[in-house]
Amino acid sequence: ALGTDWAIDWVRRSAAVIAEHKAELSGLDRAIGDGDHGENLDRGFRAVAAKLDDATPETPGAVLKLVATTLISTVGGASGPLLGTAYLKGAQAAGDAERLDAAAVVALLAAARDGVVLRGKAEPGDKTMIDAWDPAVRAAQGALDAGGDASAVLSAAAEAAESGAEATDPLVARKGRASYLGERAVGHRDPGAQSSAYQLRAAATAAE
Ligand code: ADP
Ligand code: MG
Ligand code: MG
Repeated sequence: ALGTDWAIDWVRRSAAVIAEHKAELSGLDRAIGDGDHGENLDRGFRAVAAKLDDATPETPGAVLKLVATTLISTVGGASGPLLGTAYLKGAQAAGDAERLDAAAVVALLAAARDGVVLRGKAEPGDKTMIDAWDPAVRAAQGALDAGGDASAVLSAAAEAAESGAEATDPLVARKGRASYLGERAVGHRDPGAQSSAYQLRAAATAAE
């Protein structure tokens, strides 16, 4: 089972991978949006990392709640409230448990995905971050059903999120700024799906 140390490591790894891929994410957003996705998320995750240096959250849920409130207040754009809601719903699903087993991790991921859907109303195939989150949740559930532990569940989720992000390339966008482009969005990866895949890979690596 995964504890607070895992959640903190997840967040710090997310901050590192977003910083590393900041230019790439903004480049993806420049092709089909307004070019700020990397800067938006890097600003948010830097703020999260700074807060973690001072705060001492005592449960995984408390860590995710801190991520949620910080992303909502610092990221702006479409992705701030959407990802903030994902982490907030994930925090609520985790509750005040000190450790999360495989089933609790699946519940956390499903709640996060459902939060994004509730807030942004995107469906799978709309070329948004849901195209990473939804297959991730399905793969996580599959790994759980197959008897996988929390680490196996997260690694299945990360792999599915990466494939899901890749699979946005040929899609026309039906939500967000990219939806204004019609067919011109075809051939470009959705930046929010890619950054979500990075965050889910960070969660899996932290659980190895
Ligand atoms: P903005 O478009 O306001 O500049 P960002 O560039 O930070 O915000 O984030 C853009 C990303 O937000 C998109 O790549 C997409 O994944 C995601 N997104 C936009 N609208 C929605 C929505 N309604 N549902 C889910 N995700 C969305
Ligand atoms: Mg943008
Ligand atoms: Mg913007």
